[in-house]
Amino acid sequence: MATLTQRHAASLADIAEKVWAGERLSFEDGLRLFHADDLLLLGSLANLVRQRQHPNRIVTFNIGRNINYTNVCWVRCKFCAFYRVPGHAEGYILPTETIIAKCQELLALGGKEILIQGGLHPKLKIGYFERLFRDIKSACPAIDIHGLSSSEINYIAHISRISLEECLIRLRDAGLNTIPGAGEMLVDAVREQIAPLKEKTAAWIHLMRTAHRLGIRSSATMVYGWGETYAQRLEHMLRVRELQDEMRGFTAWITWSFQPDGTELGGKKASGWDYLKNTAVSRLVLDNIENLQASWVTQGPRLAQIALDYGLNDFGSTMLEENVVSPTGTNFLMPIEEIRRLIRAAGYEPRVRDTLYHLLD
Ligand code: SF4
Repeated sequence: MATLTQRHAASLADIAEKVWAGERLSFEDGLRLFHADDLLLLGSLANLVRQRQHPNRIVTFNIGRNINYTNVCWVRCKFCAFYRVPGHAEGYILPTETIIAKCQELLALGGKEILIQGGLHPKLKIGYFERLFRDIKSACPAIDIHGLSSSEINYIAHISRISLEECLIRLRDAGLNTIPGAGEMLVDAVREQIAPLKEKTAAWIHLMRTAHRLGIRSSATMVYGWGETYAQRLEHMLRVRELQDEMRGFTAWITWSFQPDGTELGGKKASGWDYLKNTAVSRLVLDNIENLQASWVTQGPRLAQIALDYGLNDFGSTMLEENVVSPTGTNFLMPIEEIRRLIRAAGYEPRVRDTLYHLLD
């Protein structure tokens, strides 16, 4: 008599054959994977693809830090516990000297990448960012600036009355290296529920396409756990896959669940089971994105460690600072040696990388 696992494997046999043959999976295939109960089967298929793409058993990580240059923002996303509306007593803009001191500290620790993000501050126009990035690069030439979400860049262009293209060129020429994905869920029906004032899907796609054309690469991200359907998660994934076919500009994919504590939206955290399933389906569907990064900041280091066998090949960043997630109550900061230990304990070799996934050690 067939075991439960064998019966589930049989029901996904045609998809497993496609994976073994290296064929692209369709939307329907992805939906069936999401609805499958056999997490171990999904993990083993995802792991197969991961081993094919990264046969060396290396798991990379980045020594980096987050810098939130301002928390002032008028957009009031319902999932965000970080922002303060303009005029609020707790609103701040970090002095440039403080930002530079943080960069110097990072360089001293052997890191290179700053993830610099903030709110949509009505007074910070293109000139502020050009000066800031030039000052950072002149004080710390080795720093890689990975920064500004698509919403921030669209807004900077808007209030500076310049085109998106001009804005990106000026940011790039001032020192912006790469852009974080920050796409939440690229489905307008979901965006309307969680962040009605944020830019819509088409604007995100347009910005990423323009940035990639100008040589500014980016990550792609997906936040799930809003009560969306599996079909909506796949819609998001396939939009990213399509743009990657066209531009080849995405360096990595990072997915994590919405962290509800302290937010207007509230609700329950998605389960660890869901994270592993989401990770495995990501590896199987996103066949043109080489690097899949863990989000230990939101999922916890141990679940991130297990996810290395569900398709991930990167442990993310040391995150010397994490202000956007930590106000929600999620606050994991990890020493470099602990990241190495977790990777080794899972049977992989830890290696330090830069933003573009070049090995540094
Ligand atoms: S997520 Fe970003 S855009 Fe939305 S409220 Fe928070 S800081 Fe503002």
